[in-house]
Amino acid sequence: MEEKEDKVVVTITELKKMIRNNETDKIDEIDIVTTATCGIMSGTMAIFHIPITEPGVFKRGEKIYLNGIEGHIGPCPNEYLGTIDAVFYGTTYVGEYGGGFLFKDLVAGKEVEVILECNGRKYHRNISLEDLPSARMIGTRMAFKNYVAITNLGDEPINTIFHRKMLKKGQASFSGCGEINPLQNMCHNERELMGKRVLLNGAEGVILGYGTRYSQEKPNIMISANMHNMDAYYLGGFITSGGVEIFNTISIPVEVNMENKEYLKTLDEDIPLPLTNIVGRTVIDMGNYSEVWKDADLRPKINIYRCRNCDACAVERLCPTKAIIKVPHLGNRPLPNEDCFGCGVCVDACPYGIYSMNRNSILNIPITCRQSDRERAIKLSQELKKRIEKGEFKL
Ligand code: SF4
Ligand code: SF4
Repeated sequence: MEEKEDKVVVTITELKKMIRNNETDKIDEIDIVTTATCGIMSGTMAIFHIPITEPGVFKRGEKIYLNGIEGHIGPCPNEYLGTIDAVFYGTTYVGEYGGGFLFKDLVAGKEVEVILECNGRKYHRNISLEDLPSARMIGTRMAFKNYVAITNLGDEPINTIFHRKMLKKGQASFSGCGEINPLQNMCHNERELMGKRVLLNGAEGVILGYGTRYSQEKPNIMISANMHNMDAYYLGGFITSGGVEIFNTISIPVEVNMENKEYLKTLDEDIPLPLTNIVGRTVIDMGNYSEVWKDADLRPKINIYRCRNCDACAVERLCPTKAIIKVPHLGNRPLPNEDCFGCGVCVDACPYGIYSMNRNSILNIPITCRQSDRERAIKLSQELKKRIEKGEFKL
């Protein structure tokens, strides 16, 4: 039996509600706040140990593919073992299928096709996650303490990883979960962060240290977790007009102490969100996270009975997470499943206005693609709270 945690735990959304209700004093009765974020995190890779054949069949692998996504063989040579160690990037893609979709498929228990090339021969096999003795995700740059909004000041639309479609003048996208982001809610230094336990896509993981491109102004962290313990809901691929990206969800417990208290009181309206131009990334002006999140819909509203059941549904084609499925009992009309990310792209995609969503704007430029998902982040913060209270997650 797990020992129950005798601590007062609240989620970050519960805490921010108290602060908005002028109940700031209550913070002294709280021990732990579960913070969280979910968004596109390009710096994601997975290390797999992949059994391919009996020992002795091949000496050393040369190229390896999982569902067509190429991995990087090594560092262990595994000579004559019939197995491969390989690293796969969340951002490698072929067509509209990428590492993010591959990792989600594996975590969901789906079979994937392995092709190994060596000495002019190809070895094929189908595997699922349970066939992989090691499957570990490492995020080299995760949970950025918020990010930027992007627009295009030029007249020419631009292909970019910051939007599902070509980014046009008068449109904006943004990343960052604002006031619920973990690094936004704590005073941190690398020594204290290293070894801290967190949830990464539902699996218990550990912070390895600061991430790549870390800076005081834009901190981020490196995290590792076992993919066998992940929940497929929390990760996946995200198609953009500049390539296929990957999203993850992270929840981190933050202790209420003297150092963290002031950070925990920060609200969206106090967190700057710089609006930058896509070319050159120059800052145009400074907005804040309240502009993009206050009263925004986290999921689309759908007037399905007005749907024309088009031969080719534009929403199905453009949905970045491939969340649209045809529902038989609605005459095969398309609806999003739980893979929906709340990006808002469907609103402009459907020519008949079936999808609607309050997506807000930044400095009066409408948001047309959102690259962070508060709904998933909030769910994981609730999950972490539950696990701490039940004694399943040791602080
Ligand atoms: S959602 Fe819109 S684009 Fe898709 S089938 Fe219905 S009417 Fe057509
Ligand atoms: S908001 Fe619309 S386009 Fe975006 S993931 Fe959900 S269904 Fe797909």
